[in-house]
Amino acid sequence: MRWGSQFVFGTVESIKLCSWGFHHAMKDTRWTSFDLIFFDCDSTLSTIEGIDELARLKGKEWRVGVLTEKAMNGDLDLAEVYGKRLQAIRPTRGQLKAIEERYWETLVPDAQAVIDALRFLGKQIFIISGGLAEPVRGFGKRLGVSPEQIRAVELEYNELSGDWWRYYEPQTQHDQTYLDYNEGPLTVSSGKPRIINELAGDKRGRRLMVGDGASDLATRSVVDLFVGFGGVVAREKVRDQSEVFVQSKSLAPILPLAAGPSGYARVIGTPHQAVFGLGITLALNGGMIVKSDDLRQTFEKAFIPDVP
Ligand SMILES: [Mg+2]
Repeated sequence: MRWGSQFVFGTVESIKLCSWGFHHAMKDTRWTSFDLIFFDCDSTLSTIEGIDELARLKGKEWRVGVLTEKAMNGDLDLAEVYGKRLQAIRPTRGQLKAIEERYWETLVPDAQAVIDALRFLGKQIFIISGGLAEPVRGFGKRLGVSPEQIRAVELEYNELSGDWWRYYEPQTQHDQTYLDYNEGPLTVSSGKPRIINELAGDKRGRRLMVGDGASDLATRSVVDLFVGFGGVVAREKVRDQSEVFVQSKSLAPILPLAAGPSGYARVIGTPHQAVFGLGITLALNGGMIVKSDDLRQTFEKAFIPDVP
């Protein structure tokens, strides 16, 4: 299999490859846009893994980093490593705030501009993360994603740690240490599909998910298009199994993928045109791998005017 020269974009007859796959929806050869856009957080919107950064604050980076890497590559289930990592770190609320700041300092190139453009185009944006809820939610809010469209792992704090007799003072909350995490779909490798279904609820529209890890790949069964993101870490399993794999450092190719040529027509003359244009250029010049010829040709037809 040759990567690189293979582009991707689906079309043609309604081949029912899977019950939810996007193949069945595309009867003609137009690039169809998506309405509900789901992003992973760590190594997708930000270049860091939040839990590894926390570990660094505590001098436990080696032990925790090995576990994260194994989970993201699909070698260990997240359920096996989640508790182990947190037990090793035992973060305080103050340290979580520091991680929110780190997420913000390490934004993936064009992440903010892509989200701004998607919002301008009326797309619904979600963040689904196996990271910790406080920093992910704070980071997502700064990006302009509403808190109810963000899901991550909630922690419980020990109210009796820090100077508990001054519990009402912000500094005390700051010092509270982690007690336990709420086990749920985001702490196991196969849980993200359930969260997508919950968040989408009865919202109509086509779904696109972007992520770098094995737990993101697991959402393929509930979205119309899964886009692997390799701009921060290119994981072999994700690259091999994604319908579309973005390998540019920038997230800009998500825009033409999500919004199609009709989206581009709407951003012309607006502040969003530049990042959309960059996305098209990157996508057509090696920044993106598309697995099926049909899909690739449809994308090229949509964005290269003289392709018949
Ligand atoms: Mg990730």
